[in-house]
Amino acid sequence: MNQKQATYMREQLLDWYDENKRAMPWRATSYAQCDPYKTWLSEIMLQQTTVPAVVPYFLKFIKKWPSVEDLAQAEQDDVMNDWAGLGYYARARNLLKCAKVVANDYGGQFPDDYAALKALPGIGDYTASAIRAIAFDKPANVVDGNVERVMARLHAVRQPLPDSKPKLKALAAALAEGEHDRPGDYAQSLMDLGATICTPKSPKCLICPLRTLCDAYAQGVAEALPRKKKKKPQPQRYGYIYWVLDESNTRLLLHKRPDKGLLAGMTGLPTSEWVPDIDAAKHIELLPETSLDVDESKMIKHTFTHFDLTLYGGFARLDKKSLSQDGYFWYDLKDLPSIGFPTVFKKFVNLMGHNK
Ligand code: SF4
Repeated sequence: MNQKQATYMREQLLDWYDENKRAMPWRATSYAQCDPYKTWLSEIMLQQTTVPAVVPYFLKFIKKWPSVEDLAQAEQDDVMNDWAGLGYYARARNLLKCAKVVANDYGGQFPDDYAALKALPGIGDYTASAIRAIAFDKPANVVDGNVERVMARLHAVRQPLPDSKPKLKALAAALAEGEHDRPGDYAQSLMDLGATICTPKSPKCLICPLRTLCDAYAQGVAEALPRKKKKKPQPQRYGYIYWVLDESNTRLLLHKRPDKGLLAGMTGLPTSEWVPDIDAAKHIELLPETSLDVDESKMIKHTFTHFDLTLYGGFARLDKKSLSQDGYFWYDLKDLPSIGFPTVFKKFVNLMGHNK
């Protein structure tokens, strides 16, 4: 795309955006009203997560912690509890760390400099660029999955993802960088185009503002791009998930997970280790095997980033008032809805009929 075409492309896209931008609770109507705290919070929540899933969490957080200084004062357990269900829990821990740095070292004002943003906990290349563009209206190359798809189609890139990522990023940079008007709107307009017009399936080319510039459309290959390398099948892991009641049948055994590892620091149901072969999964020491009843029909499946998990239900009664092992505690069944469980545990709680 030459310089003239690139200028035309930006104009077309911005005109389209002015008429069609998506309404989102973190979007301000003008940059003068933009709150970088809301941009940052939404961008952290949107990492690996869809807009519809993020909206209720964003609204809950903003209501409870209206400013970065408010969030910096929060207890970690409180933040983790309210984050539960959104997944990728390292984000929540970094959220609090970042809020503390911004509140204490930057007087509550997010920096607008790329390097300073990227040095903050939990902020990588994409998020630093997004905050710089969206919150501060500064030029930045903001490349998410939507933008990759638009670039792959606009330039008919046939190299499959993820190998084509550097190329797609460079193509996006050629259009984004330099002195242009409205860099923040430009970044968001590309994302919105990818989310609503240049969609993964059935792109709406006939109403696309970039149609006359699009190589994939001209070549009739829009829907076939971007190509993707075949993924290897996910490793499988298996284990037991325990539903353990006390002698009065009113309290459930819960477990606060260790501070390191998957779902670190989150509260859930107790489980065995998760291993490739269910026969190798040892039950937790706390449960005497004689009283344990495994029911393989009570089973849940959950997909994590790097493996698929199957957990089988183990049922027991435990006549112990006090629990000596770290992290285990009793919780009143009737108060279960107040616990923020990660989705894997919520699935089993729902299976047991204790829906939230
Ligand atoms: Fe995407 Fe079609 Fe627009 Fe090209 S013309 S950018 S393929 S929606």
